[in-house]
Amino acid sequence: MISDDYSFILSIFVGMKDDFKHKGLRKKLVDTLKMKGIRDERVLEAINTVPRHLFMDSGFVGHAYVDKAFPIAADQTISQPYTVARQTELLEVDKGDKILEIGTGSGYQTAVLLELGAVVYSIERQNELFKKTSLFLPKIGYRPKKLIFGDGYQGYAEEAPYDGIIVTAGAPFVPKPLLAQLAVGGRLVIPVGEAVQVMTVITREGPKKFVRKEYGEYRFVPLLGDKN
Ligand code: SAM
Repeated sequence: MISDDYSFILSIFVGMKDDFKHKGLRKKLVDTLKMKGIRDERVLEAINTVPRHLFMDSGFVGHAYVDKAFPIAADQTISQPYTVARQTELLEVDKGDKILEIGTGSGYQTAVLLELGAVVYSIERQNELFKKTSLFLPKIGYRPKKLIFGDGYQGYAEEAPYDGIIVTAGAPFVPKPLLAQLAVGGRLVIPVGEAVQVMTVITREGPKKFVRKEYGEYRFVPLLGDKN
């Protein structure tokens, strides 16, 4: 978690400021998210805390608190704050929950989950992003349990079962290993579809009982498979 002391140290030693201007812009972003229907106060507080501007590529820093996705390295994007907030809300994270994230990207969603007190495992398939974000997150005080360079279609069986799994890229189908790695009572939040994705929540209600609900359309970069 980022404390005021920590952000002061950041500004001096790392050259990464989080000043009153950023905090003011974040508050406005939170107001926008409330207007768009985000209700979970803990999620809103996490968005209010994570300094999104530090996760952006330099050319877009000035837009960090606009509710939009922006390019990051490796032709990927940092997700729109509304999408991050909505997926996190749907995940229903409790403090101490073990969460698997598919698609670490910039690490912004990872940081939001950590602010909620989750124990986070996160998988990234692109080495450039994996390396960059692995170095960056601890620098600003965020410590996921493990960042994994690998293929999110397979999940991460070594640490299963998970209380929640969140997929932050568009999946053409629901990968079976992710269902198998959910704890009973756990939730998988996954955008499913090709050009357009439907935000889908699958709850494991019993060893063989999965209940599926849908929450509207989104547009994500694709979950990359073996050949792309
Ligand atoms: N959570 C990210 C954030 O906050 O910046 C969102 C990043 S972006 C929308 C989706 C990410 O999923 C990209 O970093 C991409 O490289 C990654 N990705 C795509 N296919 C993947 C796969 N099969 N396994 C793991 N990560 C994958």
